[in-house]
Amino acid sequence: MLRKKMYIDGTWVEARSGKTSRTSNPFDQSILAEVPSGDREDARAAITAARRAFDHGPWSGVTGPERGRMLQRLADLVVREREDLARLETLDTGKTLEESRWDMDGVAEIFRYYAGLADKDEGEVIASPVASSTSLLLREPIGVCGQIMPWNYPLLQASWKMAPALAAGCAIVMKPSEITPLSTIRITELAEEAGYPPGVVNLVLGPGRSVGAELAESLDVDMISFTGGAVAGRKIVMAASGNMKKLALELGGKNPNIVFADADFDLAVDQALNAVFFHAGQICSAGTRLMVEDAIHDEFVEALAARIARIRLGDGMDPATEMGPLISAGHLAKVEEYAAIGRAEGAKLLVGGKRPEDAALQDGFFFEPTLFAQCTAAMRIVREEVFGPIITVERFAGEKEAVRLANDTEYGLSAGFFTRDPDRIHRVARALRFGTVWVNDFNVYFAQAPWGGYKQSGMGRELGRIGLEEYQEVKHVFQNHDPKPLGWFGGARG
Ligand code: NAD
Repeated sequence: MLRKKMYIDGTWVEARSGKTSRTSNPFDQSILAEVPSGDREDARAAITAARRAFDHGPWSGVTGPERGRMLQRLADLVVREREDLARLETLDTGKTLEESRWDMDGVAEIFRYYAGLADKDEGEVIASPVASSTSLLLREPIGVCGQIMPWNYPLLQASWKMAPALAAGCAIVMKPSEITPLSTIRITELAEEAGYPPGVVNLVLGPGRSVGAELAESLDVDMISFTGGAVAGRKIVMAASGNMKKLALELGGKNPNIVFADADFDLAVDQALNAVFFHAGQICSAGTRLMVEDAIHDEFVEALAARIARIRLGDGMDPATEMGPLISAGHLAKVEEYAAIGRAEGAKLLVGGKRPEDAALQDGFFFEPTLFAQCTAAMRIVREEVFGPIITVERFAGEKEAVRLANDTEYGLSAGFFTRDPDRIHRVARALRFGTVWVNDFNVYFAQAPWGGYKQSGMGRELGRIGLEEYQEVKHVFQNHDPKPLGWFGGARG
């Protein structure tokens, strides 16, 4: 069993209360590690350290090019530690090792990309209406940032927040999910190795209701970047109002995947599976809401069902495994309940719908890959985020109906569609009200492309240039090179 600490002001420490918690492998519930379970007091210590590092420490004098070099060092360390990081991620989350390796490649890319941006875009000259003057726009780091992560992509989500914040010159206090802290602890060790000064990178472990809430409420925190569910998101919005801190929220999704009759059939079937079953459907962008046009509907559902029935469940460490377990007993119960709701609402269960019977899987939180057909837009199983391996299929007739149905959701994170008609591609991509629209593909993210949601899927964007700007304030500096008195006041005009 690993024994780890948290990182405050450049020192590895226990929780001040002495409390600890244990993390376990969702495949077999074996204990992986014992870590400190911090509370508000620990969060306050980390915020104070970050405040000091940002306001008075050497960090404020570190230039953009040097910040870029440090991020590049971190990227190199992630590449060096790729296999160990991937194994930690798989043990903590249950996802397949292949997926975790893919995630780690993504993490290295994120650090590399923001390393490249750190020495660019620090300011620009803008036009001024005053003769003999200069107007400068400066982009400055926003300050101390609280970064709160979910359990589904622990390190990838941490890197989406760490890299732009450090590129901008912010000081950060990270709080990973209490269920999956291990890879974030490891990246903090690597940040220490990369040479960040004390207080710049802090890691506090513990529950959202105390550590997370303290970050959101603190008057000394300038920004919160949060990825997680709507319930915690709403609490953070309220808590953040005390000092009007900036918020970037990446929340849930219910993401449509539309297959038109003219699509490449085999590609669309394959991608319909990729859309849903990565990490057992525990992805904010999972395309669990499949919509298939009338003319190919029955054939498509049949082809999909045949492949879903063959998905191999197992230990994420086993190369033969295609899908691992859900994250926890509580989450498994929630997914099971949604399957029951689907049945009660009249959706037709074609595959799965229950826990597997295989004796080897009984210690894990497994749920069978599940296909419901004959679904309608009014069903809860179609409208609500299940966050599990359940795909629902609706039938539609024509482009207008597809767009209307797809947009009929309170979420707006991502959508995908499959067609070979170039004119339709333009029309539908523009008509869909989602932060990301994939055409003839699904679940593609990369460092250069902004990620975030319309509507209740959040506010702000991560990744891309825009993801760096989230961590910057814009300052206008106006200098008059030939100032003259105005003489408006005090009788100077005679
Ligand atoms: P969650 O909201 O339960 O927890 C997320 C984080 O918030 C955890 O670190 C938790 O400890 C913390 N937290 C909980 N209550 C808090 C509070 N009151 N104040 C401050 N922090 C608090 O979410 P989860 O179950 O870990 O993750 C699943 C959710 O995350 C899903 O809804 C999923 O869609 C969403 N998600 C969104 C994206 C995206 O990019 N939009 C990516 C991944 C996950």
